[in-house]
Amino acid sequence: MLTVSAYAAPSATEPLVPTTIERRDVGPKDVLIAIRYAGICHSDIHTVRGEWGDIAYPQVVGHEIVGEVTEVGAEVSKFEVGQRVGVGCMVGSCRECENCRAGMENYCLKGNIQTYTGVDVDGSITQGGYSTHIVVDEDFVLRVPEAIPYEAAAPLLCAGITTYSPLAHWKAGPGKRVAVVGMGGLGHMAVKIAAAMGAEVTVLSRTLAKHEDAVAFGADAHYATSEDATFDELANRFDLIVNTVSAPLDMNRYLSLLRLDGVLVAVGAPPEPLPVTAFTLFATRRSFAGSTIGSIAETQEMLDFCAEHGIASTVEVIPAEQINEAYERVLAGDVRYRYVIDTATLPAV
Ligand code: NAP
Ligand code: ZN
Ligand code: ZN
Repeated sequence: MLTVSAYAAPSATEPLVPTTIERRDVGPKDVLIAIRYAGICHSDIHTVRGEWGDIAYPQVVGHEIVGEVTEVGAEVSKFEVGQRVGVGCMVGSCRECENCRAGMENYCLKGNIQTYTGVDVDGSITQGGYSTHIVVDEDFVLRVPEAIPYEAAAPLLCAGITTYSPLAHWKAGPGKRVAVVGMGGLGHMAVKIAAAMGAEVTVLSRTLAKHEDAVAFGADAHYATSEDATFDELANRFDLIVNTVSAPLDMNRYLSLLRLDGVLVAVGAPPEPLPVTAFTLFATRRSFAGSTIGSIAETQEMLDFCAEHGIASTVEVIPAEQINEAYERVLAGDVRYRYVIDTATLPAV
């Protein structure tokens, strides 16, 4: 076992605190990664605060992980020491179900092994990336292209793939009108990726406070959802709407913005139900869909796509001691556009 430095939530109501955790010995198929940066995803906050259900404490979260390989197991064939790598939201899956066999481990029918709060192969509860090291099966490790700086690459492992996957699946591209609801960590990546795919991109934010950034990220238009006129003006307009908002919204209002056969995809994950009226769907044969992260192969495709198109996350790097403050700022909507923890600032073991 390897004892490593980390930041953990002691309970649903207390701030995260420095601690140490044990990482398993490097098995034949495992890769030991020295983590350089870890992004703060809104899911980390939902999780540690118990908003998605009870979890065991203390819990280390973080599933936007980048770093260097420092050791490989005897049977590892895809990675070597010194390589730039990443780990996202999952570290394992059953590998046998229909979806795993089809290469879609993120939709494993037994539930993929999440990078934190999951039950690992050795029966322990997985601990995430707010930490100096992690041991992961090579099949769940990604290559991080040299063209993307480490800190800007970290959020791609969740925010990047979670938005790339539905945009690719529903074929965002030239001639398609795409709207992104909420421009935070996921939303700003959705704008950059949809624009790089060639779609016409509209941002739907609560206000126009982030207008200049939206344009810089590639948006063609930006509307405030606090204005009722927005919903009249944009009625029946979009082919695809990606909702990244972490709080419940009236889905019927957003569905009414879809044209014939348009799709509204939920990626934001508020714990509350999102009621939908059948008549809103009937009106122009609209669909209400969901999407979660992406497969390992698709995550690699997304990283390579971002490198090729010169895009990555817009980040603010913080020392570990500012994690709790960063959580409050994310909740206040004060994030431009992802906080990323520099793990060199974690206390020495
Ligand atoms: P974030 O950085 O906090 O961004 C959320 C954005 O939603 C905010 O920037 C804001 O955009 C908008 N927003 C926040 N509160 C709102 C409210 N009360 N009403 C309307 N708009 C509001 O969060 P994130 O890290 O991008 O995560 C977003 C959600 O996706 C979370 O629920 C997270 O758990 C979920 N998620 C899902 C997956 C998946 O696999 N499906 C993966 C990762 C994350 P504006 O200021 O532009 O309005
Ligand atoms: Zn996430
Ligand atoms: Zn499976």
